[in-house]
Amino acid sequence: MNLVFLGPAGSGKGTQAKKLESAYGVTQISTGDLLREAVRDGTPLGQKAEPLMKQGKLVPDDLVIGIIEDRFLQGGLEQGVLLDGFPRTLPQAEALDSMFARNGLRLDKVLSLEVPSSILVDRVTGRRSCPKCGTVYHVSAAPPKVPDVCDLDGTALIQRSDDTAEKLANRLAVFDTEIPKVKRHYGARTLLAEVDGTGTPDEVFARIREALGG
Ligand code: AMP
Repeated sequence: MNLVFLGPAGSGKGTQAKKLESAYGVTQISTGDLLREAVRDGTPLGQKAEPLMKQGKLVPDDLVIGIIEDRFLQGGLEQGVLLDGFPRTLPQAEALDSMFARNGLRLDKVLSLEVPSSILVDRVTGRRSCPKCGTVYHVSAAPPKVPDVCDLDGTALIQRSDDTAEKLANRLAVFDTEIPKVKRHYGARTLLAEVDGTGTPDEVFARIREALGG
């Protein structure tokens, strides 16, 4: 099964992606994670992407499409993919269509997680993550056992530099401009399922399962 996950920062894409990976065997491909890795490694791509990401702006389409193409070339995606954070613009969606066609793959569903912006602000500004293993926590909703320390490896947790209220406002504005076009693209092909992303992770996952037909 091949899926696309749409949803603004804080909509719970990352959390639900992990659940989908274990339930359906799909492999999550997150452009945000791949870009952050490139920034950490100081690659030429990372150097171009870093200032844009810090401001909550989109990285240019050709760079992001290139990352996804590279990931497809690496293979190991036989059980299906879950694209998280891609496509974010209409040209990216069109590039994805061609990539699927070239690889003889079919897109089964586009899941859009719908969450009011007041909830997004709380979720994103309270988010903390482990720079070593990537585990994500929330200061009140999913705190680590010891404040600011990763339960799994004892590393000090960090707040992503784009997870402040100000940067978030930017990211949501960009999302609101681009994503309606992406939704229309898939809506026209009746692939789109809008899922209520409020409530506990298990409640949201139950709705996703329903949207995927159980
Ligand atoms: P995310 O972790 O999905 O919130 O992504 C973090 C940042 O990476 C975004 O604010 C963008 O700067 C960049 N980014 C991630 N995915 C894309 C994409 N598909 N197109 C353009 N920029 C992206």
